[in-house]
Amino acid sequence: MGHRKEIQVEIDRRSGFCFGGVKAINKVEEELEKGPLYCLGDIVHNTIEVERLEKMGLITIDHEQFKQLENARVLLRAHGEPPGTYETAKRNDIEIIDATCPVVLGLQQKIKRTFLKHENDGTQIVIYGMRGHAEVNGLLGQTNDTAIVIEGKEELEKLDFSRDIILFSQTTKSLEGFFEIGEMIREQMQGDAQLELHDTICRQVSNR
Ligand code: SF4
Repeated sequence: MGHRKEIQVEIDRRSGFCFGGVKAINKVEEELEKGPLYCLGDIVHNTIEVERLEKMGLITIDHEQFKQLENARVLLRAHGEPPGTYETAKRNDIEIIDATCPVVLGLQQKIKRTFLKHENDGTQIVIYGMRGHAEVNGLLGQTNDTAIVIEGKEELEKLDFSRDIILFSQTTKSLEGFFEIGEMIREQMQGDAQLELHDTICRQVSNR
């Protein structure tokens, strides 16, 4: 008589989330134990998970509600926020629990450094991303909203090909789209104008 091996399969309810999302969810659970907690925007793009955390006490607010808050604890989700959000928090005595994904944070810092370096030399900082998306708003904020957002190749006409261009990408855009756009820009560059491509797409999503 052979032994019957029991195999236990445990399905991790977080397996559908990327590393940044899981980190933010863990942070919410940890911080809820310390007291009331607000979250600026949906913690993740998943209604079931948002509702589960709201049942535990998390209160989701939008930016308008955030501006009215005072003396509260607010978690910033993985997408990150522009500098203005941190300024509002300081003014209103809001404690920020920062769950910005380290990958997004690194990208914000990179864009900020690029902006400071090229602020006055006519270089165009371009972000390939979705206009109005929280992450893109956070990235734009690093350039005082001066960067140009393009959602696709149809919007390339917004660029001046006779001036230098530095292209970044929202972390969740497609690699294929990014390189296609990069190539299209390269073909149109004029004179001595330089193009710099920064593939800043997160492999947590591009490999799925
Ligand atoms: S950068 Fe990657 S890991 Fe971080 S939140 Fe975005 S998709 Fe998730």
